[in-house]
Amino acid sequence: MQLFKKKSYIQNKKSMIQQTLAIIKPDSVRKNYAGKILSMIDDNGFAIKAIKGIHLDTRDAKRFYSIHEGKPFFEDLVNFITSGPCIAIILEKENAIIDFRRLIGATNPKEADEGTIRKNFAESKTSNAVHGSDCEGNALYECSFFFSGQERF
Ligand code: GDP
Repeated sequence: MQLFKKKSYIQNKKSMIQQTLAIIKPDSVRKNYAGKILSMIDDNGFAIKAIKGIHLDTRDAKRFYSIHEGKPFFEDLVNFITSGPCIAIILEKENAIIDFRRLIGATNPKEADEGTIRKNFAESKTSNAVHGSDCEGNALYECSFFFSGQERF
């Protein structure tokens, strides 16, 4: 299912090719949803520029989510993301960051729009299927957190 229309670069001067970091989180990997999620990503026009399976340890998980340190859900978040392997992916397309945020849906799956990945596959705020970078600076940081230059195509 395609959630939004492709826009031509000429029609929309604000369009720009961007990369964003996606993570298929441990709940989705455990439940074997990775193929369906990758299919939704493909249907919505994203190109995969790097991909790997990774099981984060506590130190790296705390580093990745350091912006949330001190929040009441931080410990649950770290426990969850380290609970099993996940799949990290660099995605590329025009306006990749905002378009992928639209495709994944709200943090709380109960509030996620129909047709979004979280609406289809997430269980709760903690166990919410996928991650997507929320701005250009974080996308750059997060892509480099997971991938070296040699790992990108
Ligand atoms: P996202 O960009 O929608 O993933 O949300 P955030 O960047 O704000 O938070 C990162 C992750 O922390 C989310 O995906 C959730 O798994 C978790 N999280 C955020 N807010 C809450 C909350 O209020 N409660 C719980 N349990 N988890 C939360």
